[in-house]
Amino acid sequence: MRVSESLAETAALCERYRVAGLSVGLVPTMGALHAGHLALVEAARGECERVVVSAFVNPTQFGHGEDLDAYPRSRETDVEACRRVGVDLAYFAVGDEVYPPGFQTWVTVENLSRPLCGVTRMTHFRGVATVVTQLLDIVRPHRAYFGQKDYQQFRVIERLATDLHLAVDIRLVETVREPDGLAMSSRNAYLRKAEREVAPRIRRALLSSGDLIRGGERGVDKILEVFTDTLRPGTELKIDYAEVRNAVTLEEFSDARVVRDQGVLIAVAVNVGRARLIDNVVIE
Ligand code: AMP
Repeated sequence: MRVSESLAETAALCERYRVAGLSVGLVPTMGALHAGHLALVEAARGECERVVVSAFVNPTQFGHGEDLDAYPRSRETDVEACRRVGVDLAYFAVGDEVYPPGFQTWVTVENLSRPLCGVTRMTHFRGVATVVTQLLDIVRPHRAYFGQKDYQQFRVIERLATDLHLAVDIRLVETVREPDGLAMSSRNAYLRKAEREVAPRIRRALLSSGDLIRGGERGVDKILEVFTDTLRPGTELKIDYAEVRNAVTLEEFSDARVVRDQGVLIAVAVNVGRARLIDNVVIE
């Protein structure tokens, strides 16, 4: 496995893969790798001859007062994990190279970035879209892999790849969970014991409201009521948002009545202690 911190070296190695006729898969991450990230690597390994993992805590996707400084960083164990699962190139990007002096060019995916996480994290998806566009340009992968946990992010990236005519296939990989259902996240490390114990209610509440839709319920208010009743928000769990939307456009349903033809997304963000956790279900 190669480990690179250099943008030019990473680009040159990836160019070499492509010239040799090898298919390249990219897994962009912020490091602190866990089984969720490794599932993306596994999906990439199944479909690509070379797998590149990037690890970069991207400052532009954090807002003021968010957890940029506290965000876990574990380069040594990340390198080991990458080696173990057969990554070919681990790219630890360096901020000054990613954002050269005088930087002022942004990728904004307008409508998809506005709702859900975009409401409280106003510049988050601009930061994500910009850095992913840069990584796609450095690596030029045939396929790039994203997790369903960050479903809005997946739709944003898919849109930018289409709109900018990027020759990359954007792939979605199912959320990997702890045995009790909590979606794996680097931010779970922030949870205290009591918070960790109640956090799986997020998943349970999502499943209950998802089942309601599968059972024929169409009223958005009723679906969200069941979500809240099952979650039982209180001192440990505080809902940031819980919404039912079209799974492709992320738009709301007119008259608050679910239409299933493009799939239905129930997406939530819940503050658990100082962690803000997101999760979702998609009903096809
Ligand atoms: P992050 O390092 O949190 O920016 O995540 C990097 C990539 O891993 C994103 O595409 C995430 O959606 C994905 N990811 C994070 N957690 C999980 C999980 N529990 N299951 C599947 N994919 C995940």
